[in-house]
Amino acid sequence: MIYDLVVIGGGSAGYSAAKLAASYKKNVCIIEKGPFGGLCILRGCMPSKTLLWSARIAELIRNAKEFGIHVDQNIKIDAKHIVERKNKIIKGFADYRLDSVKKNKHIDLIYGKASFIFKNKVQAGGKVIEGENFLISTGSKISIPNIPGLKEAGYLTSDEALELKKFPKSLIVLGGGPVTLELAYYFFNLGVEVIIIQRSDHVMSDNDEDLAEVIEESFRKEGIKVYTGTFLKKVSKVGNIKAVEFEHGKKNVNVKAEEILVGLGRIPDFDGLNLQRTGMKLDGKGIPILNEYLQTSVKNIYVAGDASKILEVVNVAVEQGRVAAENMFGKKEKLDYHKFPAAVFTHPEVAWIGVTEKEVKEKNMNAETAKLPYEDLGKAMCLGETEGFIKMIMDKKSKRILGVAIVGHLASDIIHEAVPLLYNKNTIYDLAKMQHIHPTFGEIYSYLVEDCCD
Ligand SMILES: Cc1cc2nc3c(=O)[nH]c(=O)nc-3n(C[C@H](O)[C@H](O)[C@H](O)COP(=O)(O)OP(=O)(O)OC[C@H]3O[C@@H](n4cnc5c(N)ncnc54)[C@H](O)[C@@H]3O)c2cc1C
Repeated sequence: MIYDLVVIGGGSAGYSAAKLAASYKKNVCIIEKGPFGGLCILRGCMPSKTLLWSARIAELIRNAKEFGIHVDQNIKIDAKHIVERKNKIIKGFADYRLDSVKKNKHIDLIYGKASFIFKNKVQAGGKVIEGENFLISTGSKISIPNIPGLKEAGYLTSDEALELKKFPKSLIVLGGGPVTLELAYYFFNLGVEVIIIQRSDHVMSDNDEDLAEVIEESFRKEGIKVYTGTFLKKVSKVGNIKAVEFEHGKKNVNVKAEEILVGLGRIPDFDGLNLQRTGMKLDGKGIPILNEYLQTSVKNIYVAGDASKILEVVNVAVEQGRVAAENMFGKKEKLDYHKFPAAVFTHPEVAWIGVTEKEVKEKNMNAETAKLPYEDLGKAMCLGETEGFIKMIMDKKSKRILGVAIVGHLASDIIHEAVPLLYNKNTIYDLAKMQHIHPTFGEIYSYLVEDCCD
């Protein structure tokens, strides 16, 4: 049989493409090297968010005194229970996805590691599979930097960190991106001493500095050591203790801990795919060059999700999967990545959508920013959640809202009000007419408008 679509990698992007194509009654084959479920469900979004909630509860208990609740502070952390609870929940998500694929009569699932034979043929699981169209949705893999001594000393990645049923007493976290910040927050609030070492001048280096500063300050206030603007020199191990040496300012600093967590990024995973057999054009790093329709230079092969290296978040993967499939079957859809919200689930949380102030500067855009601190918000005061701010980036002339960023309590939820604002090309004057419940965190949008509009 020649499939209408062969999806390589059954994660969020692949699953989304397969479902769309199946809804058009196309014959689809998903090839998955296993286990089935994808990063988000098995080792990403969902496990980390499940674990983080345990950390948040521990944090709330520690701070309960402020609210007149006196709790025995000898909190016992049952890491085994926390991880087992996570595993149970994750299994439910993975089973549900597998079940929905199995039930779909337009989708075949083949287990095996796919490798291209030609542009319309792959082999996997001892079979040769032919297709009219292919989607490469193989996701990403952890990238381990070449730091002297790191390999010999040993380290954890996010994969192992999510499974730890016995925590180290202390942990050095290399990297200050969303995944490492969340894991730093997790371990710290469950009793582990945490030291973060970040190369750039701020954590979350892709984002605006003022957001990062709130997180750095909050982490430091709680007791996490955060070093930024560093250069890693070497790692060593003596007995059970691991040490990391790095430059900070103009000084050499040495920090020690029982364990090291490496979170210095992920790269697209094309291992064993033999992309060169398709004849497609690759960039200098071996990543397929895509047009705006997510299509490679070989017109029947598309790429979606982390493998595209465009934006490594799951809502992007899902939408790219759908759009790639639409484009294969006749449409010409493009994605505007400014319309995708994203978040970091620490506490306080960080969330953003659209244009950043960094981008405004880089592109010399005619834009202005309005900002309002959480401490001006009534509900934030009631709950003692006054860390952070909201900021809105607007076109100077028309006052059209171009971007919103929030750092603070519930940021990942209240950012959603900004999604339709950007989607519908609303101005700050439109927002001024919109109602909010009092008192809520979402009301911060009204406060901001009141503050910045005549
Ligand atoms: C710890 C962590 C936390 C995260 N938290 C969030 C979050 O809160 N929110 C968010 O939006 N994003 C989060 N992410 C990112 C998010 O998980 C990814 O962006 C998303 O899951 C990528 O989906 P994908 O479909 O591109 O890849 P994947 O889900 O990784 O799917 C790729 C699939 O391809 C398979 N595969 C690979 N090679 C082959 C081959 N040759 N043959 C057959 N099969 C193959 C793999 O087994 C895998 O199942 C997190 C990531 C991590 C690591």
